[in-house]
Amino acid sequence: MDDHRVAPVDPAGPRTEAEEVRRFRERLGLPGLIDVHTHFMPERVLHKVWDYFDALGPMTGGLEWPITYRQEEAERADILRAFGVRAFTAMLYPHKPGMARWLNGWAVDFARRTPDCLHTATLFPEPGVEAYVREAVEAGARVFKAHVQVGAYDPADELLQPAWGLLAEAGIPVVIHCGSGPAPGKHTGPEPIARVLARHPRLRLVVAHMGMPEYEEFFGLAERYGEVRLDTTMAFTDFTETFMPFPRRALPRLAALGDRVLLGTDFPNLPYPYVHQLHALERLDLGEDWLRAVCHDNAVELFRAVKVAAVRLTRSMMRAWVLPLLLVLCGSAVAAGLISAGNAGAATAVLLLFLVLAGVNSPLIFPRSISAPEAQRRSAVDGRPVVYWRPGCTYCMRLRIRLGRGARRLHWVDIWRDPAGAAVVRAANDGNETVPTVVVAGRPHTNPDPEWVREQISSSP
Ligand SMILES: [Zn+2]
Repeated sequence: MDDHRVAPVDPAGPRTEAEEVRRFRERLGLPGLIDVHTHFMPERVLHKVWDYFDALGPMTGGLEWPITYRQEEAERADILRAFGVRAFTAMLYPHKPGMARWLNGWAVDFARRTPDCLHTATLFPEPGVEAYVREAVEAGARVFKAHVQVGAYDPADELLQPAWGLLAEAGIPVVIHCGSGPAPGKHTGPEPIARVLARHPRLRLVVAHMGMPEYEEFFGLAERYGEVRLDTTMAFTDFTETFMPFPRRALPRLAALGDRVLLGTDFPNLPYPYVHQLHALERLDLGEDWLRAVCHDNAVELFRAVKVAAVRLTRSMMRAWVLPLLLVLCGSAVAAGLISAGNAGAATAVLLLFLVLAGVNSPLIFPRSISAPEAQRRSAVDGRPVVYWRPGCTYCMRLRIRLGRGARRLHWVDIWRDPAGAAVVRAANDGNETVPTVVVAGRPHTNPDPEWVREQISSSP
């Protein structure tokens, strides 16, 4: 790679910089830093991004932007470790359709070989987005990245609604570059984000770059929505202060939001040494408690909550198979006993009986489940009821069997697989997850008579 621009990095290199970062940590008594905004992506893509900065692409707002850390991937991760960064992210983002799924595949691999990187995934408004977002969540993604300016899409795009719903219910944070700095885009600024939050008020958006230059408008959203956070990436630095200064009058609000501000840096794509971001935070003079929360504690808290939610999700998906598996095991044991007693005929009959029982009790006999937002969308189009169910529920099984072949004409949502579906059921049943809950023309009916449901299908087109 030809290095045609020389970065203004300390001539002694990251080694002495690590020393400075260590001193910053020691002043605060922090065991380490957590950086929620660092870029790791396939080398080919990252080099393209660097070329773009070198060519003063529109993303830089025409500014000279010398990248400070151009080392190879493994070396870059080691620099962060030398800085005492205990956890970081792989902020990757697509600029066109068909790219997000591929990036997510790379990210699974990267997270596997980089245990201190929080498994990161991304998304784009395109058909199939909900499916690959779900796949990424099931594969262990702990944070998502969205780039409204580079992607040039409206974050409130209809195609993204099911994905936002899913991420909101799963409690997974989304670091979103949505401010109009350093360069505005067609859909940047607080207004499209306000529309997303109006529909998904629990969505854990982390507004990148403190929302610069619309700092105060994004503060307003964070003050209104308790799950909205902001990352510090590039904010308050000499570089940014020259053209998007942080308004001094907003300092008290920044102090008050101290439990929802997270350290982010844009490493390695920063036009100054890493430690400058830390000093820029320090010179805000908001106190050591504020700094400790921002540089470490807030992220620990956030990702602990994400982990708890993820474990709950995996457990609920697994428990669907416990009963059918037990039935298969029991049947096999009884059949083995009968065979050793020389009764092969009875063994076959018993085994078949248990297999049927296992099948009926497994999610397999139900039509393929879709997400709640998708089911609602389809139901709005074809007028057919939505059935919220869960595996192992006798009343759900009864409904499924009594509906016979007509079952396929309904929209089925497994609430153990779909947190948004579980939320719909709780809302309809005073907080209880009572199933089956059948929604006909927007009205929920808890455990309705299967005959009545049949009539609803025949009366719908
Ligand atoms: Zn970034």
